Amino acid sequence: METRFASLTPELIEKYSVPGPYYTSYPTGRQWTGDFGPEDFRRGLKELLARDPHVPLSLYLHIPFCKRRCRFCFCFAEVTRSREKMDEFLQVLFDEIRLLRGLFDELGAEPNVREIHFGGGSPSYLELDQLRTLIEHLRPLGNVESLDEFTLETDAITVTSDKLLACRDLGINRLSFGIQDFDEQVQRAIGRVQSPELIASLMTPEVRRSFRSINFDLMYGLPLQTRGTFRETIAKVVDLSPARAAIYSYFHMPEMYPNQGPIRSEDLPGTVEKALIFADAAEAFVRNGYEFIGIDHFSRPTDDLTRAKRAGTLLRHFMGYTAGRTPHLIGLGPTSISGFGDCYAHNTYSMDEYRQAVHAGRLPLLRGYRMTGDDKIRWAVISRFLAYMSVEFGEIDERFGIDCQSYFAGELAGLEPFVDDGLVERTDGGFRATDLGVLFARHVCALFDRYAPVDGRAKKNQFVPAIQRSRC
Ligand code: SF4
Repeated sequence: METRFASLTPELIEKYSVPGPYYTSYPTGRQWTGDFGPEDFRRGLKELLARDPHVPLSLYLHIPFCKRRCRFCFCFAEVTRSREKMDEFLQVLFDEIRLLRGLFDELGAEPNVREIHFGGGSPSYLELDQLRTLIEHLRPLGNVESLDEFTLETDAITVTSDKLLACRDLGINRLSFGIQDFDEQVQRAIGRVQSPELIASLMTPEVRRSFRSINFDLMYGLPLQTRGTFRETIAKVVDLSPARAAIYSYFHMPEMYPNQGPIRSEDLPGTVEKALIFADAAEAFVRNGYEFIGIDHFSRPTDDLTRAKRAGTLLRHFMGYTAGRTPHLIGLGPTSISGFGDCYAHNTYSMDEYRQAVHAGRLPLLRGYRMTGDDKIRWAVISRFLAYMSVEFGEIDERFGIDCQSYFAGELAGLEPFVDDGLVERTDGGFRATDLGVLFARHVCALFDRYAPVDGRAKKNQFVPAIQRSRC
């Protein structure tokens, strides 16, 4: 059978086997600095609201607690059984919400939050009354009953179908389950055992009807994973029929993430096998009626992401891809990331610093960044390419008053090896990825990244997975 990725050869995989970002922002976090503080955040928000006082906003809240610590995970989270500890954290989070609301009051604006995402950690680990109280505290930021999207990252062992239905009654309308892999051996190797039957038992007909969209997060490159085992996992996933699926890459960095220590590097699939595991999975999703949205996301034709892609409103940001209601995201909670207007801001990793800053009435920022004019042009190209796998320069020329063909003359010359390898085609007004080239989209983006290392090779310790999603 002729397949979409039939021409993916080991030579091509090896040639492009360099670590690098997946561009959920530009520039990536490596350029952000500690010089950016609360006053810069305030100024960025003021400028955004001056452009549009009713600008739609998305909120991300990081809940850093889990019932279990999975070995593959690189999220900021700790295992606890203490309800008091979670309550104490929530009190600080409520204060941070008040700080944000105070900022809007000071700027004379009414926040217009249209989307909320609870991530972590395992926000589904919160008790229902804790979730209810948290949502109550979010009311001053928007009408929580009529949000366009309200997502709960869900660890299956922390919920029942009744709890999920109660979450629906609180206004949550999307679920995202951390699946990773259904193979028992792989699950044992990553310290996260959960059967397909458990997931199936949670996705009752009523649960399916009650949520606008259910997403599965999967992971490739895990220990003991092979093309054969992951094909079986994908077959089980397709049987369960989530509206969306994302397949993230596992990065083995035990020096940064000690919980990865028990994973033996000799159990990890090699570079070529790992790439083929992903290609097989992508192929299987497309064959089963999912649309390849880009990079690592797949969705059913009726899902908001597919509709947004077809309507030309799809956006790339810290949540991966979104249906395009707003590019402006504000993060709350430790380690959360904000990206709005011309600014990026990153909250601290330290719970002590987080607590102290919020108690002192200060946004708990670690670092941030203010985009330059050139950054905005490059992000327009990169984000457009990641969303549509093609770029037509006309609209970017018009928007920024430039001529991309000459502005990016060097970058366009750099595309030639991709053209020679059959990954990119030049068009009259820009360029696009070929069917095979969609697997190499991040490499193409790196050409337009003026901060990327000159030889295109990021050192291993320079790379930090940036997507702001839990892997629950
Ligand atoms: S995958 Fe989810 S449950 Fe596991 S450690 Fe990470 S955040 Fe916690």
